[in-house]
Amino acid sequence: MSTEMAIPIPSRQLFIDGESREPVLRKRIPVINPATEETAGDIPAATVEDVEIAVDAARRAFFRNKGKDWATASGAFRAKFLRAIAAKILERKSELAKLETIDTGKPLDESVSDMDGVADCFKYYAELAESLDAKQSAAVSLPTDSFKCHVLKEPIGVVALITPWNYPLLMAAWKVAPALAAGCTAILKPSELASVTCLELAEVCKEIALPPGVLNILSGIGSEAGAPLASHPHVDKIAFTGSTATGIKVMTAAAQMIKPVSLELGGKSPMLVFEDADLDRAAEWAIFGCFLTNGQICSATSRLLVHESVAARFLEKLIDWTKSIKISDPMEEGCRLGPIVSEGQYEKVMNYISTAKEEGATVLYGGVCPQHLKKGFFVEPTIITDVSTSMQIWREEVFGPVLCIKVFTSEEEGIELANDTCYGLGAAVISKDLERCNRLTTALQAGVVWVNCSQPCFNQAPWGGNKRSGIGRELGEWGLENYLSIKQVTEYICSDKPYGWFASPPKQ
Ligand code: NAD
Repeated sequence: MSTEMAIPIPSRQLFIDGESREPVLRKRIPVINPATEETAGDIPAATVEDVEIAVDAARRAFFRNKGKDWATASGAFRAKFLRAIAAKILERKSELAKLETIDTGKPLDESVSDMDGVADCFKYYAELAESLDAKQSAAVSLPTDSFKCHVLKEPIGVVALITPWNYPLLMAAWKVAPALAAGCTAILKPSELASVTCLELAEVCKEIALPPGVLNILSGIGSEAGAPLASHPHVDKIAFTGSTATGIKVMTAAAQMIKPVSLELGGKSPMLVFEDADLDRAAEWAIFGCFLTNGQICSATSRLLVHESVAARFLEKLIDWTKSIKISDPMEEGCRLGPIVSEGQYEKVMNYISTAKEEGATVLYGGVCPQHLKKGFFVEPTIITDVSTSMQIWREEVFGPVLCIKVFTSEEEGIELANDTCYGLGAAVISKDLERCNRLTTALQAGVVWVNCSQPCFNQAPWGGNKRSGIGRELGEWGLENYLSIKQVTEYICSDKPYGWFASPPKQ
């Protein structure tokens, strides 16, 4: 079995105003390869001092030449830069994928697919930037002939884009591409646990000569770089993806200035397997839905509800499918499960598993470090049964390869169990009865419902959650609207005539 060669992590600086810039306090954060536990390099750590400089650069870029250089330029002009970014990402796909894998531990095949997703996202928003031009000045029909009205869609301004570590460059693309398409200028703050590919995006921006200050990239710790960005008075909007706990802090900071926020937060998504399902397909989607990206997916269908009449047969198949998952160094060919991103996250996952056992659940499969791997933050894909709805493992997001299973006896009970959560990101239903699938699509409280699958995600379709999984939608045309402000323009077209509400003053 071949293993791809690891490549060195390039030594980079912050990206501000079109240039590499050392952090004012010269702080750096080590990059630990989670598969080897070795230090692979380091990244710059921005603090409030750098945030000030970056926000100022983004503001200047927004207003440069009265906005004509970027914000009020045509969408077609901005689209050219988005397409150039996509082309460079594809050119460097193999290298970027390796860097993503060394930084996060995700299997190399996944990182390659992420890089395709990044390029597609920039191409998609290039198209939407172009079509924005035709949508400008759309007329609004009014119930009077004395006025006419139209609507302008304008960029919101300077936006802060704060992202997590599970899909570092892809989550950044989901925000950077629509923000730039809309004409905003931006400061991207990737996660301190995985910023390497986002710093390479800075190099791409330099190569394609993106106008200075349009995109600034500040790696750094959440409390030191993310918090001052979220509370900065000259940041006009925050788009955040991360945990619900941090989302609350970001929204609280934004509320002080009535700053719009879009939040993509955590989840504890259900999958329902009905008695008429093809149990092999159900098992395949169950492991894809929960163990992809080493189980670190916000929308992981980590609560599996199976109809009691097929539960025993389904569990057998599920274990067979799980046994066939290749757990290895994520650079190794065919790897399907790599390590957890960091030691801290690894400990969190292991604590969830041990609390589940203490609370009386059964670890049916996994729950430990794989025997054949001596180093790295690996956790075997884990299946937990005998779970009650009050257990921590059923209620809280684990963010690791841990699947909990409960049985249900009727459609009503299945729906009730599925919706009994404070989250509402994804939900999946596996059944051959499409009428039933339609009923569930309506009944499930989630922003995304998958029918006979789990996790596929497309740039064209809206993404986001309800309840404590977030506010707003990314991707598709909805993703662009996040960065646009609507301006009403109303004109009195009988300007030679008095309006007539107040009496005209007597003629002198
Ligand atoms: P996190 O909340 O710890 O960090 C997310 C980002 O916020 C990081 O860049 C971090 O540095 C920054 N941050 C931390 N404290 C901050 C503060 N006080 N102010 C501003 N920024 C701050 O999340 P994580 O551990 O990086 O990511 C995992 C979480 O992300 C999971 O809960 C997962 O469900 C969620 N997630 C959601 C989606 C979605 O689409 N809904 C997608 C991916 C991940």
